[in-house]
Amino acid sequence: MPDFASLEGKTALVTGGSRGIGAAVARELARAGATVVVGYRSGAEEAEEIASEIGGRAVQADVSNADEAKRLVEEAGDLDVLVNNAGITRDGVLARMTDDDWRSVLETNLSSVFYTCRAVSRGMMKRRGGSIVNLSSIVGLHGNWGQSNYAASKGGIVAFTKSLAQELGSRGVRANVVAPGYIKTQLTDAIREEAQQQMLGLTPLGRFGEPEDVARAVRFLSSDDASFITGEVVVVGGGLGM
Ligand code: NDP
Repeated sequence: MPDFASLEGKTALVTGGSRGIGAAVARELARAGATVVVGYRSGAEEAEEIASEIGGRAVQADVSNADEAKRLVEEAGDLDVLVNNAGITRDGVLARMTDDDWRSVLETNLSSVFYTCRAVSRGMMKRRGGSIVNLSSIVGLHGNWGQSNYAASKGGIVAFTKSLAQELGSRGVRANVVAPGYIKTQLTDAIREEAQQQMLGLTPLGRFGEPEDVARAVRFLSSDDASFITGEVVVVGGGLGM
């Protein structure tokens, strides 16, 4: 099936596309035939490099800011696919968590998704088609010690996306969630070796994920081959937490 999960003729925006999972998603969507806009906050050089490699465009915007998120979507043009991937962690136990740790994670991970989805929704509804894929996390489904802010933001993405799917379905617009388990990126480099080994022990497939493992799931959900799938959560975690 050479055309499976083709995105030929479609335009896609990937937030946080400068590295890690976002960069792999940008590459995979381009491989599927999409024209890809690579959103980034500070990694200009990396984002430009990826954009030129895949024949796309890099656009700078801090998606935790409502105006910048709106501008990003406007600069990206008429979108068929929106992938909300930008995310951060500011881990710490609840008793010591600062207001800033809470707000920065909620604003970057969850408010950003609201801003970009709101900005694309009118155009997608008018064109009677579109696919939104929001990156949550296994932590958004089960919680995690020392990550109450991150868990709240990622759990919020699940509930938000299911609501979107209900609102937009009649206009042919789909919204789904991809929830990665432990994927090797800069985000997880900071995790203690002992905690990493513990997670590995709980992963039936016995390995950590690669950004490409997540990217292939995002590609499928973005494509018309997933045209009867909306409001769902696809966990890409090697069986962790099932
Ligand atoms: P990385 O830290 O490697 O990359 C994060 C990306 O998000 C960077 O491109 C960064 O851009 C961008 N970003 C951060 N803040 C903003 C902002 N305010 N505005 C725009 N872009 C921003 O993370 P991963 O690739 O590991 O994670 C990607 C997504 O997947 C995140 O949402 C994460 O929560 C989720 N995830 C990851 C897991 C993992 O194991 N790695 C597990 C579960 C979920 P820049 O560098 O330019 O600032």
